[in-house]
Amino acid sequence: MNFMNYRQFFPLLSRTVNGKPLVYLDNAATAQKPQAVIDTVNELHAALNGNIHRGVHYMAEQCTMRYEAARESVRKLLNAEKTHEAIFTAGTTAGINLVAFSFGEKYVKAGDEIVVTEMEHHSNIVPWQLLCERKGATLKVLPFDNEGNLRMDLLPSLLNEKTKIVAVTQVSNVLGTVNPVEKIIKIAHAKNIPVLVDGAQGAQHGGIDVQKTGCDFYVFSGHKMYGPTGVGVLYAKEKFLEEMPPYQGGGDMVKTVSFAKTTYADLPYKFEAGTANYIGAIGLGSAIEFLNNGQKTEEESYSLCSCSPLSALQAHEHALLQRATQELQAIDGLKIYGNAAQKSSLISFTIDGIHHLDVAQILDKLGIAVRTGTLCAEPVMQHFGLTGMVRASFAFYNTLEEVDKLVEGVKKVKAMM
Ligand code: PMP
Repeated sequence: MNFMNYRQFFPLLSRTVNGKPLVYLDNAATAQKPQAVIDTVNELHAALNGNIHRGVHYMAEQCTMRYEAARESVRKLLNAEKTHEAIFTAGTTAGINLVAFSFGEKYVKAGDEIVVTEMEHHSNIVPWQLLCERKGATLKVLPFDNEGNLRMDLLPSLLNEKTKIVAVTQVSNVLGTVNPVEKIIKIAHAKNIPVLVDGAQGAQHGGIDVQKTGCDFYVFSGHKMYGPTGVGVLYAKEKFLEEMPPYQGGGDMVKTVSFAKTTYADLPYKFEAGTANYIGAIGLGSAIEFLNNGQKTEEESYSLCSCSPLSALQAHEHALLQRATQELQAIDGLKIYGNAAQKSSLISFTIDGIHHLDVAQILDKLGIAVRTGTLCAEPVMQHFGLTGMVRASFAFYNTLEEVDKLVEGVKKVKAMM
């Protein structure tokens, strides 16, 4: 499969930055959008915009139909049993906050415990801390070792009758570690503890089968999987969604409203208060369609389609990771953080004696976009005694030549500093 073909579908990739062809290696922060997604969003804004679930006019009905079709695409992507187990949110952060609040209201009381891991993004720490503060519960933390693997040997000792939920990232956005979520779910379920999996860095690199893994809650963001910003998904088992109280109140989430008594809408609408980001959700549906089937070219043939595009894309991403790892670790003074056997396509590193911000700024001058700073994971920085790192993260549209440009760029930074 020629991965150069993919680039043609992403218009932004052909731009220049600082007079140089863009080398976009900040995909873990946000991924670029294929023309199919851009066209969908434009078409809706330009020609089909009507608020969903309310109007009976043509445009409202079309948007409603396409919004619900996008929900079905999400169901298929996650292999959820029921379509109404997929709730549209504003993104991963919004999904975790929804669960932390609503699950917390229903099931968590003073003295209970919540388990997270040391490698979580702030989005999967702070909502649980807020819950603990509200309820008088305690946050317990499963550490990772210096290679970036979770200390699975310690997990059983953290789980007891007070533990109400385990929240773990599928893939670390700093270390790249692909966590053994299926195993974690098995261990937690043996003690009747549900598990939330943060799929922000996992959904676009293989995703999850929620039925096979038994995952109770799964969250991800549209913008990291080639869809629009401001939309995401919370998958939750029906049982929890039925039992949990609504998170936000407003239009669309009610059956009847009176000052005496208000009743709530059926799933999934109970958790979708107010005007949903339906254009974003339909755009996300279009991104899922693109990942599954590719995009029609002018000749109307599917040029990205193959038997199993997602796994082919992952194999290419792995090749990029391997090349980058080999080349970068050969640079004197460069240290890579996260060497797990199962690793996603991102590399975080520091260079002795050079501030991470300087590295990223010089790379930017060369047209190479990477991420720098604490990567919204301060506990990971604290683990290694650092104030920040540089992160290069790859998508399937990146090329080996771009990896080489990154390596050359880092060598230039070293020479300059
Ligand atoms: N969790 C992880 C692992 C992430 O990488 C991110 C985004 N960097 C988030 C959660 C939050 O995602 P969002 O900002 O799209 O809500």
